[in-house]
Amino acid sequence: MCGIVGVVNESREAGPDIFFACTEMQHRGKESGGIAVFDEEAGYMDKHIGMGDMAQVFMGKSAASLRGKIGIGHVRYSNTGSSSLKNAQPVIGFFRGKEFACGHNGNLVNTKALMNECSMVNRFFDSDCSDTRVVAGMISQSRAASFKEALLEVLPKLEGAFCFLFLCDGNLYAARDPYGFHPFQLGRRGRDCILASESMVFDHLSIESPSRVERSAEFERDISPGELFIAGRFGEYSMMWSEPKNLKFDIFEYIYFLRPDSKVYGVRVELARRMMGRYLAEEQPAEADIIVPVRSSGSAASRGYAERMREMGYLCKEEPEGLFRPNVVGRVWVEPFQEIREEYLRLKFNIIPELIDGRDVIVVDDSIVRGNTIKRIVKLMRQGGARKVHVRISCPPYMWPDIYGNDTYKDYQNDRLVALTLMGDAAAIAKSIGVDSLGYLSLEKTKRAILDVKEPGSILDMDSFYDGVFTKKYPAGTGDYIIR
Ligand code: 5GP
Ligand code: MG
Repeated sequence: MCGIVGVVNESREAGPDIFFACTEMQHRGKESGGIAVFDEEAGYMDKHIGMGDMAQVFMGKSAASLRGKIGIGHVRYSNTGSSSLKNAQPVIGFFRGKEFACGHNGNLVNTKALMNECSMVNRFFDSDCSDTRVVAGMISQSRAASFKEALLEVLPKLEGAFCFLFLCDGNLYAARDPYGFHPFQLGRRGRDCILASESMVFDHLSIESPSRVERSAEFERDISPGELFIAGRFGEYSMMWSEPKNLKFDIFEYIYFLRPDSKVYGVRVELARRMMGRYLAEEQPAEADIIVPVRSSGSAASRGYAERMREMGYLCKEEPEGLFRPNVVGRVWVEPFQEIREEYLRLKFNIIPELIDGRDVIVVDDSIVRGNTIKRIVKLMRQGGARKVHVRISCPPYMWPDIYGNDTYKDYQNDRLVALTLMGDAAAIAKSIGVDSLGYLSLEKTKRAILDVKEPGSILDMDSFYDGVFTKKYPAGTGDYIIR
């Protein structure tokens, strides 16, 4: 998963806005990041791209030193293509002699075919080239009359998931795949236009009005699946580059990826997760003394779980500090290397033994993928003297790889998806991770929880989700990926 943001400001410099937005989206990726801005007067595109999180990328350089009122930013969590500087984004290309920049969230599944089709030997392509660089290469190669025409030529060839932001010659182009796998939202701050992966970005980008009242940007609408939206020096323009298909929004965005304060399709993420926790209590209760959330991704579900358990007459209470989360490491998973992930896991959690000793514990987390996290936690609980350890997970067994944005394909190939290796059998998985019991939330209730908290007018229904990691259904096909 990645985060993207685009800004078209009327009078302010775009660099600082983009920098802050990217920093707020760091949970979506921090392997690399970057900003490209266009200076209308100079006709020049300035950029700064590097490895690490935004603070590392901009060490010793100020985002305010980038000149231009229009620009894009990207934070990366690698999918296709290695985690390296040459695959860092925004990717830079040239179209008809003009430099352009491209930021992508999602993952294409026909990258190999696209590379062959292009049969182009140039600096864009090599063996571990990212899908995004292939797209930039295709645009660079296009003989279309305008950048927009080039996009209309290239976009229909792409299979898989994408939210794209392009910056070329003073215009910003936003394109979304026809299924709408990942969030892409348009916000407004006065006359400034902001595009971002997550709506909470709008809350953070504010201006002081003449009356000194702070006014934040506001959500205006979602970029539609299949839409091409253009903003820049000639104003704004929107068209459909493709017929939209039935919306297939990645359900894992609600389960895990989105920040709790974001709202997508009328669903505030925190509330959906709490509701998942409530259903989890109904489907998978257990006798215990305390309920311990795995912060921070399991916090909301745990809150809902504890609340519903009390309503149902269970006496257990929530003990959020039972599993202590030092403030030093962010999202561990975003680390691409298994060894480093395990090292981080040791740093990520600790326990306060006095809160656990001699108690029966229910640990609540949002998901188990490879099982690294939960194994570590269970070990800590036992060390802390827990008598029984029950685990409750606020989504179904993660059985199949994600191929549209959050690469678990390598884990799939290496038999590391623990639920798949044990055929989704909760009792067997419980045994393998060494817990007294394990309960998952049903897919039906996972969806129901999201729909329960939607605002009136939300277009979501039971059929609006991409849930391939639970069902092996891949609406945009599997392309280069082989899933047996
Ligand atoms: P595991 O350690 O089982 O591989 O991963 C499970 C933990 O990582 C859970 O605590 C969950 O919050 C988080 N997680 C699950 N899926 C993903 C994912 O696709 N990306 C990231 N960054 N974290 C995930
Ligand atoms: Mg987690």
